[in-house]
Amino acid sequence: MRVIQRVILLALLLGWSLSAYAFTLLVEQVSDRAYALVGDIGLRTAENHALNNTLGFLVTEEGVVLVGSGADPGGAQHIEQQVASVTDQPIRWVVNLGAQDHHWLGNHYFAERGVEIIALERTVTAQQAHVDNHLLRLHEVLGSAAAAVTPYYAPEPLAGEAAELTLGALELRLLWPGDGHFPGDALLWYAPERVALVGDFVFHDRIPGIHPFSNVSRWHAAFQQIAALQPDHIIPGHGHPGDLERSMRDTGAYLAWLVEEVGAAVADWQELDATVEQLADAPAFEHLQYYREWHRRNVHQSYLQLESGRF
Ligand SMILES: [Zn+2]
Repeated sequence: MRVIQRVILLALLLGWSLSAYAFTLLVEQVSDRAYALVGDIGLRTAENHALNNTLGFLVTEEGVVLVGSGADPGGAQHIEQQVASVTDQPIRWVVNLGAQDHHWLGNHYFAERGVEIIALERTVTAQQAHVDNHLLRLHEVLGSAAAAVTPYYAPEPLAGEAAELTLGALELRLLWPGDGHFPGDALLWYAPERVALVGDFVFHDRIPGIHPFSNVSRWHAAFQQIAALQPDHIIPGHGHPGDLERSMRDTGAYLAWLVEEVGAAVADWQELDATVEQLADAPAFEHLQYYREWHRRNVHQSYLQLESGRF
């Protein structure tokens, strides 16, 4: 075989093996109309289009309601393909539940195709507040692909804490249960099938991250509101879909633990460093991915929030 032919063959084989490992959002049906699109549980990468989160969609006879649009046009296109793998219905509406990049920076891709983008006003406000930071970080992850990301906001954001949406024949409730992982995070409730698409209020499989802009006490209170809905199916912001028991195990109980344990240390005037040491182990949550990397940081951050009276 001539060298040039060998090089071509090698390139073909290499291309085939790379595509064999290409990133795919997993499609998981959770009820008659509702599906989850589960991204990587691990880190954001260029290959996964920063989709280390979970999205969802509802299929109606008049079109698909997509919840979350991904972080870049490539990810948005992949989302579109995965939706098309289960229905011929076109995506007609995109609902944004949060301000974090991979929940909404694919909006532009869908808006260009005539899809209506829907969000609460307070979600849009948070998107605008965080967009510069998210674009910078996307650049680090996606490299040159980040240049194609164009922020696009819901053109008629909805005022107030909740909105009733009629999309196709579906009656949905878009609701802000209080701030959580990010300010302005919201959830979508589909009562007939008791499905809650809860965005970053719930993490399954991996540990929730308490950030400086998160609010651990309000997040904990918001979780109680989600539980009060008594959903049968929860599509989380990260991880596989599940029931309320799983959400309680992976997120609700952890938030309650932080508020209670760190809150008690703050009430006792215990120092920050001593508190982080004392609460460094939380065996009930060791099963969560990134526990080792995040737990101490979460205790630290919760302490700062609870000490400053942000509760
Ligand atoms: Zn997230």
